[in-house]
Amino acid sequence: MKVTAIRILKDNYVWALIDEEKKTALIIDPGEAQPVIDFLQQHHLHLLAILVTHHHWDHTNGIEAIKRQFPVPVYGPANENITGLTHPLSETESITIEGFPASIAILDIPGHTSGHIAYYLQGKLFCGDTLFAAGCGRLFEGTATEMKDSLQKIMSLPDETEIYCAHEYTVNNLRFAQLVEKDNAAITERIKQVNELRHQNKPSLPSTLKEEKETNPFLRCELATVKSSVEKHAGEKFDNSVEVFKALRKWKDSF
Ligand code: ZN
Ligand code: FE
Repeated sequence: MKVTAIRILKDNYVWALIDEEKKTALIIDPGEAQPVIDFLQQHHLHLLAILVTHHHWDHTNGIEAIKRQFPVPVYGPANENITGLTHPLSETESITIEGFPASIAILDIPGHTSGHIAYYLQGKLFCGDTLFAAGCGRLFEGTATEMKDSLQKIMSLPDETEIYCAHEYTVNNLRFAQLVEKDNAAITERIKQVNELRHQNKPSLPSTLKEEKETNPFLRCELATVKSSVEKHAGEKFDNSVEVFKALRKWKDSF
């Protein structure tokens, strides 16, 4: 299976999961239709299904127009209202799509939205707007506790897991990460790598969970260095890592 990014809107990625032998594909989070349709036609791919992580328009707006051309099933979170959804999903389910070689596990990861799900297959995680490279999604519907639990759930996957998130936010996220942890050499190193990729106009993704654990401040709230940095910025002391996480998210919101 090959994974390719289709760029849409300002900085969204629609991920295409491609079986090159069979010339079939799944797509994830089509916030726009035409670039996806063009991609499928250019590469002579037969679309098998659309997968959606959450209800935001920049992940769903293309569904209807794509379905008019390719009448495929649409999988997405059971707990969100998404026009065109045919197969509501939650964590207890895993899906097999006829014609596609791998079965796909579902993770419930609320926080950015209340029903947000992720898709996990063959060591790859498609996590929408929950975990970003060096960052995490804003808390639009969920609580800090929910988001932190969701990130914790992701952290229990193997370190080599490839992280495919839905936005190219990495440069900005790393700038913030460095502000939080100015002595973290892994962040400095990652900034170099990501700048290189971006200068070549390549996606900074996927990352690995290991890289995220080393450089993503939102996965590092338990560390004394991160805690004290957040406390210093907020001007108050925190009792636990959820409070640190909450204040860190607030700090990033105004960054
Ligand atoms: Zn979103
Ligand atoms: Fe988004």
